[in-house]
Amino acid sequence: MSIAENILKVKQRIQKSCLKVGRNPDEVSIVAVTKTVPIEKIKEAINLGITDIGENRVQELLEKKNSIENVRWHFVGHLQTNKVKYIVDFIYLIHSVDSLKLALEIDKRAKKINRVIDILIEVNTSGEETKYGVKPEETIDLVKQISENCKFLRVKGLMTVAAFLPNPEEVRPMFRLLRELKDEIAKLNLKNVEMKHLSMGMSNDFEVAVEEGATLVRIGTAIFGPRN
Ligand SMILES: *Cc1c(COP(=O)(O)O)cnc(C)c1O
Repeated sequence: MSIAENILKVKQRIQKSCLKVGRNPDEVSIVAVTKTVPIEKIKEAINLGITDIGENRVQELLEKKNSIENVRWHFVGHLQTNKVKYIVDFIYLIHSVDSLKLALEIDKRAKKINRVIDILIEVNTSGEETKYGVKPEETIDLVKQISENCKFLRVKGLMTVAAFLPNPEEVRPMFRLLRELKDEIAKLNLKNVEMKHLSMGMSNDFEVAVEEGATLVRIGTAIFGPRN
């Protein structure tokens, strides 16, 4: 299938999931995850209306950024503190903040260039040790710490990478947990915290994620085909 057909399919599936639970499809944006995808294919997707691009490695992101204009760059992978300086001047949203140490580094770099940076907190909802993310029970505390200590950050919501399970129904509790955490944090009315986004759902589980309230779905394979 072509990229055009794939994007159409993904959009239709998002619409269907929204319809099922009474959500407005306009509340859900696609972040096209382009790791390992060549520039020409990314440009094709952009010509088809994709506006948001996600990468999970700083090096690859920087290489691609030079050839691709007029998109919003999302960082979705694990971010090392020593790499923050390379992306802080242009990144649209960092999805993967999971420690105060990382938040403080982004804040420090942001302050230097007087730019406010939007971030999401990555939560490890599956409990798998191989996954990044703050533990669910430590999430509220981390958001409070960031709110108090990081004047140049805006916490815009939460992100999770669910477990990869053959039946996407089984990941529903993880998405639900993320939504409940978001609602709980929103009630606290913390400074510089606006719980607008739930970044959850990938190619194999985005429909369930949309049903559970995702506002950003991170889609790679379902748009560009399998990665090598
Ligand atoms: C690769 C990746 C995705 C996209 O995965 P697909 O299964 O190809 O849709 C989403 N989020 C993160 C953090 C990723 O690394």
